Amino acid sequence: KAVMGKIIWRRSMQMRSQQQAWQESREGRKMMKFRQSLPAYKEKDALLMAISQNQVVIVSGETGCGKTTQIPQFILESEIESVHGPLCSIICTQPRRISAMSVSERVAAERGEKLGETVGYKVRLEGMKGKDTHLLFCTTGILLRRLLVDRNLKGVTHVIVDEIHERGMNEDFLLIVLKDLLPRRPELRLILMSATLDAELFSSYFGGAPMVHIPGFTYPVRTHFLENILEMTGYQLTPYNQIDDYGQDKMWKMNKQAPRKRKSQIASAVEDALRAADFKDFSPQTQESLSCWNPDCIGFNLIEYLLCNICEKERPGAILVFMTGWDDISSLKDKLQAHPILGDTSRVLLLACHGSMASAEQRLIFDEPEDGVRKIVLATNIAETSITINDVVFVIDCGKAKETSYDALNNTPCLLPSWISKVSAKQRRGRAGRVQPGECFHLYPRCVYDAFADYQLPEILRTPLQSLCLQIKSLKLGSISEFLSRALQSPELLAVQNAIEYLKIIGALDENENLTVLGHYLTKLPMEPKLGKMLILGAILNCLDSVLTVVAGLSVRDPFLTPLDKKDLADLAKAQFSRDYSDHLALVRAYEGWKDAERDLAGYEYCWKNFLSAQSMKAIDALRREFYSLLKDTGLVDGNTTTCNSWSYDEHLLRAVICYGLYPGICSIVHNEKSFSLKTMEDGQVLLYSNSVNARESKIPYPWLVFNEKIKVNSVFLRDSTAVSDSVLLLFGGAISRGDTDGHLKMLGGYLEFFMKPAIAEMYQSLRREFEELIHN
Ligand code: ADP
Ligand code: MG
Repeated sequence: KAVMGKIIWRRSMQMRSQQQAWQESREGRKMMKFRQSLPAYKEKDALLMAISQNQVVIVSGETGCGKTTQIPQFILESEIESVHGPLCSIICTQPRRISAMSVSERVAAERGEKLGETVGYKVRLEGMKGKDTHLLFCTTGILLRRLLVDRNLKGVTHVIVDEIHERGMNEDFLLIVLKDLLPRRPELRLILMSATLDAELFSSYFGGAPMVHIPGFTYPVRTHFLENILEMTGYQLTPYNQIDDYGQDKMWKMNKQAPRKRKSQIASAVEDALRAADFKDFSPQTQESLSCWNPDCIGFNLIEYLLCNICEKERPGAILVFMTGWDDISSLKDKLQAHPILGDTSRVLLLACHGSMASAEQRLIFDEPEDGVRKIVLATNIAETSITINDVVFVIDCGKAKETSYDALNNTPCLLPSWISKVSAKQRRGRAGRVQPGECFHLYPRCVYDAFADYQLPEILRTPLQSLCLQIKSLKLGSISEFLSRALQSPELLAVQNAIEYLKIIGALDENENLTVLGHYLTKLPMEPKLGKMLILGAILNCLDSVLTVVAGLSVRDPFLTPLDKKDLADLAKAQFSRDYSDHLALVRAYEGWKDAERDLAGYEYCWKNFLSAQSMKAIDALRREFYSLLKDTGLVDGNTTTCNSWSYDEHLLRAVICYGLYPGICSIVHNEKSFSLKTMEDGQVLLYSNSVNARESKIPYPWLVFNEKIKVNSVFLRDSTAVSDSVLLLFGGAISRGDTDGHLKMLGGYLEFFMKPAIAEMYQSLRREFEELIHN
């Protein structure tokens, strides 16, 4: 004990003298001055007092006031200065990788240290920490993983959960776990930090924990909605249905071919693009009617126009553009780089800011550009609260957001862009007024804004719970429904039951709600379980290359475009990729064609000719790589790309893998004389989406379709389907797990009997048993 005490004492003396030297240096003094100017600094003593006297403290304050970078440091510094020496171990969680990385780097810099000394970070696949790290920034997922092996967080003195106002699934989940932990670890301190003022909700969840508010200040921001912007530009609007996604690609093409476009041409491109919306017909009453107005279409061109305008006419100041996701960002960036003004690097510094960018790129975002150079940052909603860019004066807001974070435990990425809430819009606007009065351009009409929800629903209430349920099981937290009933806002019981039932059907949980082997692997793949299942079987059966494409394709916006006025041509183009009654396999072919064309730098021409979205193709390409590295982490592939692809082009095998993933999404094909009809057990008659390759067929020589998604409009429509045989369904549908063969066959038998095929069911019983033996051995 005495020796340990001495070591700690010596170490703390060392840290103190290091800090002293830094604070006396010129750089250090400058940094200290900046830190002291932040609103959080004024609350330092009050904060430290509250933290020392209470187990849980809730801190709120405007974005940029210094919560994330300062509060962990205050704790660290006070511990270093205290007589006992630096015994603390602080963990601060961030919802996204990029913020964990950039914040830790910033804090290390503020302390005049290298990253990995006192301050470190850890995110999936990457990290930097050493034996002297006392302050660790990590993703929420990483902390949840640590809890898996270290239930009591031994040695940790402070847990800081940041950005709780976002109400992400992981954060809500973590709060339940920590609430359980607090009585077991009375000396552990929990600090919750939030940007907006819903602190009471969290306070009451933790039995009336004290709240500390950091008052902030922002300059006024002039706000323009779409109608004001259009007035400024003087353009008329014509109906929406005259342009679509495809028009956007066309516009891009024009730019590519004529990179030196004159301003009048730009203006006419804007005019074209603005045909996208007709606000007279637009009813703001319901969210449903909102979704039929597509701002993505006009977004690109209008953004280009606004950026040009600001660069040419406005005072200095950075521009921050909020886009929906990184695929949009990279397409827009490509487009802008070809622009005569915006692509001129001597005048414009064009940067992207999204969850999956490299850390070198991140740093540039914070740097001030040289005189006369305008900084433009294209960002996702990550720049709403997690990352503060100091010199922003102009904000352009597309009004939508898409979550594409693939953090290890964030298992249900919501991939469709959806409208943001009023709070988010206000937050985005506020980013313009940090250093001087600013200006904000919302690319949607006022009436759309009025119809926004006040707050976004917490993720736990709006996304399927299957992946969360798997996590609860892998953390051994007991009964799923009992656990979730203790959440800040509990999901509906039915939603929980549905999720559990689904997990049992697909073989991830057994009858007693325990994880199966498959379930264990699925918890390691941050995606919907059905997609994870396909990847796993694709890896086992060595047909990974095509399966990666199928899974990536199901994770992005439909790459097959159907412009309204060229629907027939587009359908024809898709049909040429189809030979075997499968939308999924058609996509595999389309992707491979694109890949070849891309090698000859003709990717865009290829997409244009074949009615494919180049954006989606690029996104698929990137996701494939991401998924492959995830599989490598699980140990299911060993990095030898030849073996895992030896069966990649076996159409029958691929059909089986797709069936394995999409089950129980199956429907029976009932042939009559001229055509066929479709039936599912739950819905009865269903229809195919008109752009499905199977919708063009008059006969399908298979008895079943497996499908990815069904959507209820008036009738039930199936999207993306693949035809499969009885034997494939029997062998690959449902759970493949030792011991449950009978249960599974009973269920499948139910399906078959329902569709009057009991004889077949019997015939396959023994086959199935043999097959399972084979798989398990
Ligand atoms: P909050 O968490 O309250 O939103 P932060 O602690 O993230 O605020 O940021 C406080 C201040 O530090 C902001 O003004 C921000 O601009 C600045 N800052 C944060 N990270 C960096 C960085 N990497 N480089 C330069 N300044 C930064
Ligand atoms: Mg913050």
